[in-house]
Amino acid sequence: MSYVQEVIQQVISRNPGEPEFHQAVKEVLETLEPVLQVRRDYQQAGILERIVEPERQVIFRVPWVDDQGRVQVNRGFRVEFNSAIGPYKGGLRFHPSVNLGIIKFLGFEQIFKNSLTGTPIGGGKGGSDFDPKGKSDGEVMRFCQSFMTELYRHIGANTDVPAGDIGVGSREIGYMFGQYKRIRNVFEGVLTGKGLTYGGSLVRKEATGYGLVFFVNEMLADRGRSFDGATVVISGSGNVAIYAAEKAMQLGAKVVAMSDSNGYVYDAEGIKLDTVKQLKEVERKRIREYVNIHPRAEYHEGCKGIWNIPCDIALPCATQNELDVDGARELVKNGCIAVGEGANMPSTPEAIEVFKTNGVLFAPAKAANAGGVATSSLEMSQNSMRLSWSFEEVESKLRDIMINIYRNVRETAREYGCEGDLLAGANIAGFIKVADAMLAQGVV
Ligand code: NDP
Repeated sequence: MSYVQEVIQQVISRNPGEPEFHQAVKEVLETLEPVLQVRRDYQQAGILERIVEPERQVIFRVPWVDDQGRVQVNRGFRVEFNSAIGPYKGGLRFHPSVNLGIIKFLGFEQIFKNSLTGTPIGGGKGGSDFDPKGKSDGEVMRFCQSFMTELYRHIGANTDVPAGDIGVGSREIGYMFGQYKRIRNVFEGVLTGKGLTYGGSLVRKEATGYGLVFFVNEMLADRGRSFDGATVVISGSGNVAIYAAEKAMQLGAKVVAMSDSNGYVYDAEGIKLDTVKQLKEVERKRIREYVNIHPRAEYHEGCKGIWNIPCDIALPCATQNELDVDGARELVKNGCIAVGEGANMPSTPEAIEVFKTNGVLFAPAKAANAGGVATSSLEMSQNSMRLSWSFEEVESKLRDIMINIYRNVRETAREYGCEGDLLAGANIAGFIKVADAMLAQGVV
């Protein structure tokens, strides 16, 4: 059995009941074989055994009182995965499906994604099984305050800097920042995705979606294609999906479908993004309401059917494993030329195989959605310097970062004999930088 397969087996047996974590580890490690064949020093230094083991995992009780005066108890997590190249960095997810395995898969991916940004940030992730949906602002605030009352011990501007993810947007970041500041009595950039009046960066809100489109556009350009005139399907209608749609439209694409966890809307004339923003960002309503405002559009219950809609480009921007082999086959059948992952691990391994064998351009999450964390890193820089850059300045830095990531990933794939395989290129490029830093720092 190869070194890689041995480590994968160890991970599976030592982390039972965590299928998403196994999936993420397998996906990364199996593409590293060509590196490990030439870099025996990584094996001698136990780099793989160490990189799959989080440096620290914190699980804590989060008690809070709901509007009816009842005590509620949720579970909080922070997994500080790897700090070889910088302070732990990665979002917080509030969703009922959150468990340790989900946070570990996200934290593991984050190590390589953060490395790819070219900025000095390590990998971490956290969250809770709390569901913000249907809760009042008061309930969300009390939950966030209770969550931070424990989390504050483990984080800091030079230690671990969380951000948003599913269910954590500017409202939640605001409540958590307020509580951190109150407890610690320091005003520091301990969270990113902050509001613009208290240290947030312009373009952070847009960054993941915009970055995804910059990346995919660069990938399309290699085939002489672009977003201009393309038909695009985007799953999700949250932060990543909305701003991916916005940038795709700015580049001349027509976005015909978006979704939430209940179903999807299809608008053949092109989705009206202002309506989606109003429904999702302001009123916190369901996507089905879109058809009440635009009766020409169709609403369909269930999420998976969105991949049956013919398109040139598909951007899964909702959640893990949302695009399976059936969806992938439908996309291929309908002539889709490119898939760009806005969400983390949205395509199943079988779906990725379908894209590969059918020559569909595939932009893997850890490279394509790195624009969010890259801009978080720019937010950290601005906080440290106590100044703020203009929208144009940050957007241009973001664009440069995404183009650099694309080129780095493409060239790395070429160098290691897997030309065109951006997933392998991303894993290898992200890994080598972290592995070299770990090597230099000894067995820690
Ligand atoms: P949001 O909470 O803003 O939006 C999530 C969207 O996905 C919503 O439309 C939501 O629908 C849908 N969704 C969530 N869970 C499911 C599910 N189980 N099944 C179907 N649909 C679901 O989150 P973000 O936009 O921030 O995150 C989306 C994805 O992008 C995640 O995978 C996240 O890890 C990834 N990501 C986010 C970054 C960021 O900067 N925010 C950075 C990099 C990656 P509903 O409202 O019904 O729940």
